[in-house]
Amino acid sequence: MKTLKVLSIASEAVPLIKTGGLADVAGALPAAVAPHGVAMTTILPGYPKVLAALGKAKALHAWPSLLGEPARLLGGKLGEHPLLVVDAPAYFQRDGGPYADAGGRDWGDNWRRFGAFARAAADVAAGAIKGLAFDLAHAHDWQAAMAPAYLRYAGSALPSVMTIHNMAFQGHYGADVFPALGLPREAFAIDGVEYHGGVGFLKAGLEAASAITTVSPTYAREIRTAEFGMGLEGLIRSRGERVHGIVNGIDTREWNPEADPALAQRFGLRTLHKRVANKRALEAEFGLDSHDGPLFVVITRLTWQKGMDVLLEVIDHLVGMGGRLALLGSGDAAMEAGFHAAAARHPGKVAVRMGYDEALSHRMQAGGDAILVPSRFEPCGLTQLYGLAYGCVPVVSRTGGLADTVVDANLAALAAGAATGVQCNAVTYGALADAIDRTIALHRQPDTWRAIQRAGMKSDFSWGRSGKAYADLYASLVEAA
Ligand code: ADP
Repeated sequence: MKTLKVLSIASEAVPLIKTGGLADVAGALPAAVAPHGVAMTTILPGYPKVLAALGKAKALHAWPSLLGEPARLLGGKLGEHPLLVVDAPAYFQRDGGPYADAGGRDWGDNWRRFGAFARAAADVAAGAIKGLAFDLAHAHDWQAAMAPAYLRYAGSALPSVMTIHNMAFQGHYGADVFPALGLPREAFAIDGVEYHGGVGFLKAGLEAASAITTVSPTYAREIRTAEFGMGLEGLIRSRGERVHGIVNGIDTREWNPEADPALAQRFGLRTLHKRVANKRALEAEFGLDSHDGPLFVVITRLTWQKGMDVLLEVIDHLVGMGGRLALLGSGDAAMEAGFHAAAARHPGKVAVRMGYDEALSHRMQAGGDAILVPSRFEPCGLTQLYGLAYGCVPVVSRTGGLADTVVDANLAALAAGAATGVQCNAVTYGALADAIDRTIALHRQPDTWRAIQRAGMKSDFSWGRSGKAYADLYASLVEAA
């Protein structure tokens, strides 16, 4: 079997830089596809954190002007896999996040920053740089989406895959940015980069890519509809069978309760009884009352997508039913205030931490009884998968990847020993309160609860099957090219 060389183009990847699930996926993908004959190189923007991890690196190439600013291509490692970094100080060496300043305001020149990143990645993928050759380019989300477009308008025959991790983020800009992108005039067309009179980055990538994937089969169906397609449903429908749903796995090197250095007490399927030490530690860490009643956790961006406004409404009910809640989140200021107020109303029962804390998120999955994920839409979702792996029973809304990865504890599933969590029908006060009531009732039956935990821990949330699915897709596209 010939090894396929794939360039994975991503704006974030663990362990170097992360704001959400995209980073987990981009970080895990090289190892996931390696057993299936794919040698993957990842290309990232040179943010300060990425450059710091790279150390002293040799420049493989220099662009005198990448959409107006000089840039260099540096080589390094992402774990054990090859990494390329676009070092363009004017674009990427900034304090704050990858997309926004420290105050949370999006950088005004994101179109140029990620246009330049995609331009560089397209050059690399197409073999313009000596010593680097690829069979396929795989672009993730709007930040990388112009790469397939640049390849297309350069006349490259290189096959490409465009993965949608979240349709809600599309990279829309005014028509005035078009000239600076350095594309031929014909690209500003309805089947090109033009979108409602402006430029749409994700749209451009979806038009140009040889195939489209998204991160669960249910989300792949949902984005064909107006409710989830966010304006691109027509385009997704028109690309028909070229749209695939491949569910994310989790990186079991980072997320393994038997070997997790963040935990007070490691545990596994056969040592589930030891898990309680993590619950005690979590109660202490959050200042919650300590007892055997149900402890819910939430680890999330605080946004409308994640249904956090509805959770806020349901907290009093949750506490009234004997539940406790530990929440780790960051985002919307009004929601943060709402959760602080709920914690003040319910001392010992509700506690919150605002901010982003990777190690704490591990301790919460290990110590919580159930993780609440009431998303309005969820392309795949990772926190419920970590919950499954850690015996923290997911309570999820029935949408996207949540519907695909959690088996509801209905009577039939319970009888078959297949139940791994609780699904709620809608993201409303009533439906979420019902799901919480059902969870608490199940938690009162220790044998049933343990069976649900065990079924979750045993379910296949590894990258095995999905790594093969990506590799098969790459192979079919390279063959057809
Ligand atoms: P999304 O990418 O939409 O934010 P996912 O569930 O796919 O949602 O991925 C979220 C990732 O970010 C998970 O790895 C989750 O553990 C992590 N995460 C989210 N919020 C926090 C936080 N406040 N602190 C630590 N980790 C977080």
